[in-house]
Amino acid sequence: MAEEQQDRRTPKVSWRNPSLLFELSKPGRIGVELPPVGVEDASLEDLLPEEVRRGEVEGMPEVSEVDVLRHFSRLSRRNFAPDLGLYPLGSCTMKYNPRVNEELARLPGLAHSHPLQPESTVQGNLELCWALEQILIRLTGLERVSLQPAAGAQGEFAGILMAKAALNHRGEKRKYILIPDSAHGTNPASARFAGFDVKELLSNDRGTLDLADLEREMTEDVAALMLTVPNTLGVFENQILDIARIVHSKGGFLYCDGANFNAFVGKASPGAMGVDVLHMNLHKTFTTPHGGGGPGSGPVGVCSELVPFLPAPMVEKTAHGYRLDMDRPLSIGRVRTFNGQFGMLIRALAYILAMGGKGIRQVSENAVLNANYLRKALEGKYHLPYVSDSMHEVVFSDKNQAKHGVTTLDIAKRLMDYGFHPPTIYFPTIVSGALMIEPTETVAREDMDAFIEAMLAIAEEAETDPEMVRGAPYSTPVLRCDEARAARQPRLRWTPEAV
Ligand SMILES: *Cc1c(COP(=O)(O)O)cnc(C)c1O
Repeated sequence: MAEEQQDRRTPKVSWRNPSLLFELSKPGRIGVELPPVGVEDASLEDLLPEEVRRGEVEGMPEVSEVDVLRHFSRLSRRNFAPDLGLYPLGSCTMKYNPRVNEELARLPGLAHSHPLQPESTVQGNLELCWALEQILIRLTGLERVSLQPAAGAQGEFAGILMAKAALNHRGEKRKYILIPDSAHGTNPASARFAGFDVKELLSNDRGTLDLADLEREMTEDVAALMLTVPNTLGVFENQILDIARIVHSKGGFLYCDGANFNAFVGKASPGAMGVDVLHMNLHKTFTTPHGGGGPGSGPVGVCSELVPFLPAPMVEKTAHGYRLDMDRPLSIGRVRTFNGQFGMLIRALAYILAMGGKGIRQVSENAVLNANYLRKALEGKYHLPYVSDSMHEVVFSDKNQAKHGVTTLDIAKRLMDYGFHPPTIYFPTIVSGALMIEPTETVAREDMDAFIEAMLAIAEEAETDPEMVRGAPYSTPVLRCDEARAARQPRLRWTPEAV
């Protein structure tokens, strides 16, 4: 808390806020005590050759177990999480992760199994992968699904590599991938990584792909169209059958970014829409935890032409049980060690089985209902740049508030004072001052109403007291930061002088 805001009712207590573990360090203090071993001591120098030994780590904190525990518990209380409240971070689907998933992922037989164990000893694990694949095949309407990719972006990369391999196999070299301006940012990155050039397609007034533009750009030099469905405006590509027809007529593949499959899972089948390859984010649609960079899981499903190119190994069911099939001569190879993020696969399967077919359908129904409830309640006060029906998220802009000098960043910061995580801001980039709000289906009506009340109150404050809104937040452990400076002069290394 800034010095001037410190009043006498909140005394300054030094133990409350030691910000770094390094500051707690005392020479010689340790957090572990190992039992005596039954063999004679040997020095590290005798056991390990010089080149593999780590040198002294400078400034390594020396702390007790209590210090460590308290430090991280304290830090967790300064943060925000879906376990604390509404976290409407558009596109990220920060919904509640049911604890039963965690319980099952921690079963010792699953948690302690090792990926190098012989197949005969991990038949249950293999069956679990096989069962999850069968369900994802059913939900996507595609031919096979690889569970290997460790994130949505890696699923994209694997999917585009498979399209490329299939084209090579046909004896075709194609140069381009088409990507609409409303796509997720990882799409062009994946296309470039796979060695393609990207051509951007424009959206129409509805916020969907312009078919005339697609007709023009879709040539026999184009390997695939990467379509985010629903797109980042939260709008469904309602002409997807025509889109698929145009792409296929030139021999290209239709790639669907299904990271936000939660918007239509159980309701509509990507396979029936003409999609050839699609990735899903288990950590969005199927409630495996995410945030803080991982772990994620981005299974990728393909049509029959692409099956031979799937990453190896695949789990196969035989008359004698389950096995890992490495004999895949046309495969793009591995994209991840072992069989992907196995713990995430357990969680996703637990969630799907707990929900059942009807429950899964309800996931998308409620996600869409919540986003539209929010949209109706806010559209009078916040500017809606695209008026097409929303799916699982809704994108507003700061146009109405900017008249009073209050921008998207100010609104996002002020929301923190009301006890909510801000939505995704300034994305998608085709909306100036975007506020991309995704409540998800795990939010109850009362929480939705509280969020709406906060947003309306902020719109009111923007008119009556814009100066105050521009100074927000006032109640968080860290107040308004200079975000440009943090990006331009990051301080990533700890030194005693820095404290
Ligand atoms: C989240 C997301 C991705 C990227 O997924 P990661 O698991 O973060 O790599 C890709 N596309 C869309 C539409 C997304 O929402």
